[in-house]
Amino acid sequence: MNRRLLLSSTTLIFLVAATLAGPAAQNPPPAPKRPLTVAEATDYKATSRYADVMAFLREVQKMSPYLRLETLCRSTEGFDVPLVIVGNPVPASPHDPRIAKKAVLYIQANIHAGEVEGKEASLMMIRDVLQPVLLPYLDRLVLLVAPIFNADGNEKINPANRRLQPGPEQGVGVRPNGLNLDLNRDAIKAESPEVRGLLRNVLNRWDPILLVDCHTTDGAYHEQTVTYSWPINPNGDMNLVEFQRSKMLPAIEKIMKEKYGTLGLGYGGFRDSRAPEKGWETLEPQPRYITNYIGLRNRLAILDENYVHADFKTRVKGNYDFLFSIIDYCYANAEPLLKLIADTDAKTVARGLAPKAADVFGVEFDLRALPDPITVLGFEMEIVQREGSQFPQMRRTDKKKTYTIPYFADYFQKRTVPLPAGYLLPAAPAEVVENLLLHGLVVERLVEPAKLEVTAFKIKEIKGAANLYQGHRMNTVKGEYAVETREFPAGTIYVGLAQPLANAAAYLLEPESDDGLLVWNFFDRDLVGQWSREPAACPVYKLMAPALLVKQTIR
Ligand SMILES: [Zn+2]
Repeated sequence: MNRRLLLSSTTLIFLVAATLAGPAAQNPPPAPKRPLTVAEATDYKATSRYADVMAFLREVQKMSPYLRLETLCRSTEGFDVPLVIVGNPVPASPHDPRIAKKAVLYIQANIHAGEVEGKEASLMMIRDVLQPVLLPYLDRLVLLVAPIFNADGNEKINPANRRLQPGPEQGVGVRPNGLNLDLNRDAIKAESPEVRGLLRNVLNRWDPILLVDCHTTDGAYHEQTVTYSWPINPNGDMNLVEFQRSKMLPAIEKIMKEKYGTLGLGYGGFRDSRAPEKGWETLEPQPRYITNYIGLRNRLAILDENYVHADFKTRVKGNYDFLFSIIDYCYANAEPLLKLIADTDAKTVARGLAPKAADVFGVEFDLRALPDPITVLGFEMEIVQREGSQFPQMRRTDKKKTYTIPYFADYFQKRTVPLPAGYLLPAAPAEVVENLLLHGLVVERLVEPAKLEVTAFKIKEIKGAANLYQGHRMNTVKGEYAVETREFPAGTIYVGLAQPLANAAAYLLEPESDDGLLVWNFFDRDLVGQWSREPAACPVYKLMAPALLVKQTIR
């Protein structure tokens, strides 16, 4: 007998499904009345506005003592973006000794406010995980949730937004925040209040071992309703990347299928929709994407992309099932995950203390297929000529077709440069220092001048992009390296790589980094002198061998 059929409310169906293989159930006292999300209360015709989210969280607070609200940031348009802390006991701060052995997970939704499933699903998850029967999850886990990361975008709800997706019929918000920025391209330059809040008040403050970022896909047709990715930039710790790709996410996909009945698929699209057999391809590797950036911090990250062509209720259920599958996995593996993270940090610090020739940083990448193919439960496609369109387009038929094809999701380093012991910035602009501190790096200042042998990058050519992107004309540089001995004055900024965030530091500061601060115009004032047409040397020098420096940490 299917006990799910006996229950009428969607919430209860989700809740019962979530109990099937979770932690051992305790004797539950009678459950208090649970609030409904706007999606549930309107039979999935509408999504929550900011005021609805805050009202829902207040109702949950009346139901349970195990959650507390912090503020992630104040948005450009004046919304206090909530960060929900869920724990038993709810920790007073990240340093609360009662959570010392627990795994802190961070779930972020609505970064693109037209992609609203995560907002509804994460609110439902907060409510349901606090039901007595599921409370044992909180014996090992602390959950941080930002259900409405892009509140500015959310409040522009309009049925005309994202018309590609079926429902909610009363509309969804828009992609950018109040500064017209795409927050999932802001992880490096960190110009938005939301990403600055993420860095300061979530990542640096709570140091979650895992970040989940909830989105909705834009393209291909398939039966799987949840697609996902791991951090894919090859300048992250590859042991960690490989663990997530080949162990953690397949295990989570299995839980989601077997326990919740929802199918998952590695994120991507057909390389050529006219010839699907050519393969399935993932997103770009740059760390301006938040989940890729998290990989550089030696932490775990999951990009959730809900299947756009499913109806709204199915998309929310898929996202909800995915969140509980992730929680199931982290509950079962909390201890080894914490150890893996700690070991990776220790390994990174040890590398920075004594860099070897094999320690390199990729400045160009290539993409190849993973060892195993991927199976996309798709449909046969047909070519149609749409009215008003010059070009024929592909359209799905109703005939199912399974494609087992190469999965292009393995970025690898094509050209590398050696990693130094640290970087010296003799005349660092204030916004550079501010950005480095915002990322949580250990930044120091020379107290005494030092004469050092360094590697300089002599820029031979610098080009700003013809097109504006996220408010920038991104730089590309060409040049060559030269070893030289220079006098660095007191006040020179030093960023050493014997720190856990070394991979992020290198990405920000390497002169040829494809997504670093030089690319994002942070050094523009210093790259060409007045009356000069020739570019200057890159103002970041690489100290290749560790040296004893008299310096002081900046806070
Ligand atoms: Zn998105």
